[in-house]
Amino acid sequence: MAAALSAEATGVSRILLVERTNQLGGVLPQCIHRGFGRGYFGEDLTGPEYAERFIRRIVQSHIRVLTRTTVLQLNRDQTALFSGSAGLTQVSFTRCILASGCRERSIGSLPVWGTRPAGIFTAGAAQKLVNLGHYHLGSEIVILGSGDIGQIMARQFVQAGARVVAMIEQKAVLGGLARNQRECIRAYQIPVILRATIDEILGDRRISGVTVRHLDTGYTQRLECDTLVTALGLIPEQELTDPLRQAHGLPDWLSLCGNCAYIHEIVDSVTTQAEKLGATCGQGESI
Ligand SMILES: Cc1cc2nc3c(=O)[nH]c(=O)nc-3n(C[C@H](O)[C@H](O)[C@H](O)COP(=O)(O)OP(=O)(O)OC[C@H]3O[C@@H](n4cnc5c(N)ncnc54)[C@H](O)[C@@H]3O)c2cc1C
Repeated sequence: MAAALSAEATGVSRILLVERTNQLGGVLPQCIHRGFGRGYFGEDLTGPEYAERFIRRIVQSHIRVLTRTTVLQLNRDQTALFSGSAGLTQVSFTRCILASGCRERSIGSLPVWGTRPAGIFTAGAAQKLVNLGHYHLGSEIVILGSGDIGQIMARQFVQAGARVVAMIEQKAVLGGLARNQRECIRAYQIPVILRATIDEILGDRRISGVTVRHLDTGYTQRLECDTLVTALGLIPEQELTDPLRQAHGLPDWLSLCGNCAYIHEIVDSVTTQAEKLGATCGQGESI
């Protein structure tokens, strides 16, 4: 949204914003905690409030928006293939800004023994299910990894009456922003086990516990839980660029923006980067 608005402000007259889900804002609508916009707006907003400020400007602009529409392909001839309510559509453009966000590293990427029973979620998926779906995920939660989303969810689980049994981190220090360590982990006295990992998932239909291995001593311990949440890091979502990559990188008509380019810790820096990129678009371009 920030890139599109900035491109419009530089005089680009034909802009199409394509979004897979039914609403604009990316991950922001599911982030109901405060902490957004301290840098950009000088205010402490929730994710939905931050998104709303841009959605309002988009609605007042001449930017065309297609929601419930997935970009399936970006082609070398500067066309894109969409799938949406009208079926498959091909459009051509002069410039493309890809702002497809990121995906979460899952438990499947780790060498963990055991079955894959119900009750295992990535932190972002847990956040979406709880905040947008209003689901109750579990009562005894183990969190593997100490990324920001895991820390934010740890606090939210405790606020909702669940017990966070432990946050387990392989490094000697917690990950994430200092403010999340302070406001989510220390303020809510979440037990943290550093220099440790999970070797095995226990349980048949539903997870019943995990085996934790301490990396320095090799000592293992069993923790009982009914839910495992993973906060193992984010990976830029760049799949659409795979067929376009050349020996010297990406074609000059394509720019990557936000978490799709690299993982940003805060949304303010996504917005600033997007605005700079939008301002590089020239008059007469269609993006
Ligand atoms: C759980 C969580 C908590 C956070 N907490 C904070 C915080 O407290 N404070 C803060 O400042 N920042 C926070 N951040 C960081 C910040 O919110 C994000 O970095 C920022 O919102 C990412 O914006 P983005 O546009 O790069 O990606 P996203 O918000 O992920 O948006 C990408 C969009 O692209 C769409 N898309 C992807 N592929 C396609 C396709 N093929 N076709 C069509 N559409 C597609 C997706 O549906 C999505 O809407 C948090 C992030 C997360 C995930």
